[in-house]
Amino acid sequence: MRKKLLSMLEARKAEMVNIRRHLHAHPELSFHEKETSQYIADFYQGKDVEIQRGWDGYGMIVTIRGGKPGKTIALRADFDALPITEQTGLPFASENPGVMHACGHDGHTAYLMVLADCLIQLKEDIPGTIKIIHQHAEETPPGGAKSIVESGLLDDVDQIFGIHLFPTSPAGTVSYRSGYAMAGRTYFKLTIHGKGGHGSSPHMANDAIVAASHFVTAVQTIVSRRLNPFETGVVTIGSFDGKGSFNVIKDSVELEGDVRYMNKDTQQLIDKEVHRIVKGVEGMFGITAELTYTADYPPLYNNPEITANVVKYLNQGVGDYLTAVSEADMLSGSEDFAYYLEKIPGCFFYIGCKPKNTDEVYFNHHPKFDIDEDALLVAAKSVGEVVCGYYGLGQQP
Ligand code: MN
Repeated sequence: MRKKLLSMLEARKAEMVNIRRHLHAHPELSFHEKETSQYIADFYQGKDVEIQRGWDGYGMIVTIRGGKPGKTIALRADFDALPITEQTGLPFASENPGVMHACGHDGHTAYLMVLADCLIQLKEDIPGTIKIIHQHAEETPPGGAKSIVESGLLDDVDQIFGIHLFPTSPAGTVSYRSGYAMAGRTYFKLTIHGKGGHGSSPHMANDAIVAASHFVTAVQTIVSRRLNPFETGVVTIGSFDGKGSFNVIKDSVELEGDVRYMNKDTQQLIDKEVHRIVKGVEGMFGITAELTYTADYPPLYNNPEITANVVKYLNQGVGDYLTAVSEADMLSGSEDFAYYLEKIPGCFFYIGCKPKNTDEVYFNHHPKFDIDEDALLVAAKSVGEVVCGYYGLGQQP
């Protein structure tokens, strides 16, 4: 089946490009992808699949039941765009002002629709079930993945796979990272309530600015004094709302911050320390503090055994549709695919899509972000390869 699938995909390269260009011209923001979702659903119209839609958003699960019983895997592509004004000048540039597919999700969706259709045609040979996840709202917390996981519709999935297009390496290259691969992220807001008063009479007030300043200083010790120096973490206070009047003691101050970490242990350590310091500042200054501490995307963890298998399968494509399969660095960006991987073991890997004939590379989320469309076929073949490898269909020795 491997050979058959790869040549079917090859024959449908232009279709992937057309789908990508249609989606690129019609981008929609996270949680508002109504037309995109309908376009995808229409594609599956009349095909022998089950489609489940309609929880918190426009995502859908397309279930392909193979001709033989067996394990269930899921393949996911996201389809939302970003609040960015496109500056690529492409003939199929965004027709929706201020909204752009600047993260390659148009390409993710295009390759997966065509791959899914080929798998539907070959399904009699598939010993198991394949769930295609067309996911909404990757870009905006809480993200679409969380609600899909919580729907329970993936409870029967044994392994899950996904890819991301990155323009830092050319089409034909694939990279991966075993274990923790992408950062998790937490947002927090701290409101410190003191007691306002006259600048001349601090003894009759309780200064929120002084207490908040001690908090800012104290949180700097989390990464420098508490975290193991071989681990990575970031605690940033990005906002300190202390604007007032020179002779008025502030009664309250609001702070906002961003926390990043590469694993759960670091996440828990920073979480615990921030809460402890808030308690400490309360006791030290007699103020009251309200802390909103919200983890959004968790660190992304690729199962090492599954990742090793993916690498083994992909290596079969080297010299054919792939030029290299290499290990990637950790990425400080976050990705809601991490929610699936908390529940289902799997692997999220990267497909090179650096545009040809240019020296300048615009990274994901840049208004001039673009891809080499050859990467769509590479993505389809790579993920198809993983499917064939997983089910042991036509592996070469
Ligand atoms: Mn993305």
